[in-house]
Amino acid sequence: MATREHFRVAVIGTGFGGLGAGVRLRREGVTDFVILERADSVGGTWRDNSYPGCACDVPSHLYSFSFAPNPDWPRAFSGQPHIRAYLERVTDIFGLRPHIRFNSEVEEARWDEEARHWRLRTARGELTADVVVSATGPLSDPRIPDIKGLETFPGKVFHSSRWDHDYDLEGKRVAMVGTGASAIQIVPAIQPRVDRLTVVQRTPPWVMPRMDRGINAAEKWLHAKVPASHKARRGLLWLIREFQVGAFVRRPQLMKATEQIARAHIRRGIKDPALRAKVTPDYTIGCKRILLSNDYYPALAAPNTEVVDAGLTEVRGSTIVTADGTEREVDAIVFGTGFHVTDMPIGDRIHGVGGRTLAEHWKDGMAALRGSTIDGFPNLVMIIGPNTGLGNSSMILMIESSLNYLADYLATLERTGAAALNARPEAVRSWNAELQRRMERTVWNTGGCVSWYLDASGRNTTLWPGTTAEFRRATQRLKPQEYEVLRGRTERTGSSEASAEVAA
Ligand SMILES: Cc1cc2nc3c(=O)[nH]c(=O)nc-3n(C[C@H](O)[C@H](O)[C@H](O)COP(=O)(O)OP(=O)(O)OC[C@H]3O[C@@H](n4cnc5c(N)ncnc54)[C@H](O)[C@@H]3O)c2cc1C
Repeated sequence: MATREHFRVAVIGTGFGGLGAGVRLRREGVTDFVILERADSVGGTWRDNSYPGCACDVPSHLYSFSFAPNPDWPRAFSGQPHIRAYLERVTDIFGLRPHIRFNSEVEEARWDEEARHWRLRTARGELTADVVVSATGPLSDPRIPDIKGLETFPGKVFHSSRWDHDYDLEGKRVAMVGTGASAIQIVPAIQPRVDRLTVVQRTPPWVMPRMDRGINAAEKWLHAKVPASHKARRGLLWLIREFQVGAFVRRPQLMKATEQIARAHIRRGIKDPALRAKVTPDYTIGCKRILLSNDYYPALAAPNTEVVDAGLTEVRGSTIVTADGTEREVDAIVFGTGFHVTDMPIGDRIHGVGGRTLAEHWKDGMAALRGSTIDGFPNLVMIIGPNTGLGNSSMILMIESSLNYLADYLATLERTGAAALNARPEAVRSWNAELQRRMERTVWNTGGCVSWYLDASGRNTTLWPGTTAEFRRATQRLKPQEYEVLRGRTERTGSSEASAEVAA
């Protein structure tokens, strides 16, 4: 029988999560690992989203790794090419390339109960690993709604995260479907180039001014020569966002002041009262992600733009039809309709104890312990798992906290000589019961909107209802009592015991 390659750890994905995991593993002295990536380069989100205007909406000095400061960020909110280049540099500086296998989509990961390790089938062969780190990203699989007749459309169709740069939008009649985070960056970037832009809006977003500016040479010099100045800047950006959390989570009524700024922003950008009314949301600000833009409203008010305030229902030949009966002939349809978030495709590919898939396990909603581990899926650690998303701060903070947890997870395996750890169902239940209790008062649940934060049953399984400092504390150390130990049949301890408490 052919022997499969075996690794201590197999990481899936090369976005911030997967690359961060690689750096952390090396720092912990783990070198026996592989990083599997379905694409042919690193970057995740920042490789796939190359649409015009793509940039982060959390300041770059915070939206980057704490262990890899970048004094050269060109802007307060840097664009996609710079973030992608940053991740390429991180890959090289931290020696990750030899560990990465590109074009290696993980088609299946199956827990082998006998051997007590994972069997992975990838597009480039099979391998086994003691521990799997899933960093496949919450926003990596585009979602295009099922629209009647779309397949008959004779023009160009693509999703914002799979931009077709070979297609020239110059002088075209374009429909932008959706008004979320990507769409509000795309609209002002393409409006001056296209003949006519039809923005198909189901629910308007709240949009705040974007405090963007170029980082000047003196600042860059200072950050390069005096690292403490970079740290101080990052610290301040972090602190401001930590203070905002209370309003989102405990006192949504405090969001009213922010709402006034957003209303004034609409008034400044749009003169026409009818258009102002169309783009003014009827839910509390913060319920959906607050978006940042200085040129979105002026682009909507431009003579070649039309906002259709109804969802897309049908495509008839080259005509799009919306729920209010509006019909417009277009040459291209761009979908800014988000991603598979609460139904992530990797869920169908990961099989835990008894062959059960993660998707089956999560049929009533995603749930994990400390956003990281799942009962019945031993030695599977997620980066940006359920309830680790943020409404207002940098996801890199959450990723780094999850990496602390991963490091302690691996240290616990070493210390106890266990083959695997399996989260106790009661630990997962009580962690999530507390999360959902805290969720009740949040603006995401009470603000009167339907958002991608909520799953089909209306439960918020995506966001973290607290500060990033709280999550950091919650993931600093693995709590042994929350796990059962699976001993190896033959290896390490020589024990054939099925399970035991983890020794603290
Ligand atoms: C346009 C856009 C803008 C954003 N802006 C911000 C922002 O300003 N601030 C913020 O905090 N967050 C932002 N986010 C959220 C962003 O997704 C996270 O901040 C972060 O980049 C996620 O990193 P990740 O590594 O978890 O996932 P990703 O970056 O999505 O990486 C996942 C990787 O896994 C790979 N993969 C997936 N499935 C498989 C498989 N089966 N086999 C092998 N490989 C696989 C993918 O190809 C990808 O490379 C933004 C997201 C988008 C889409």
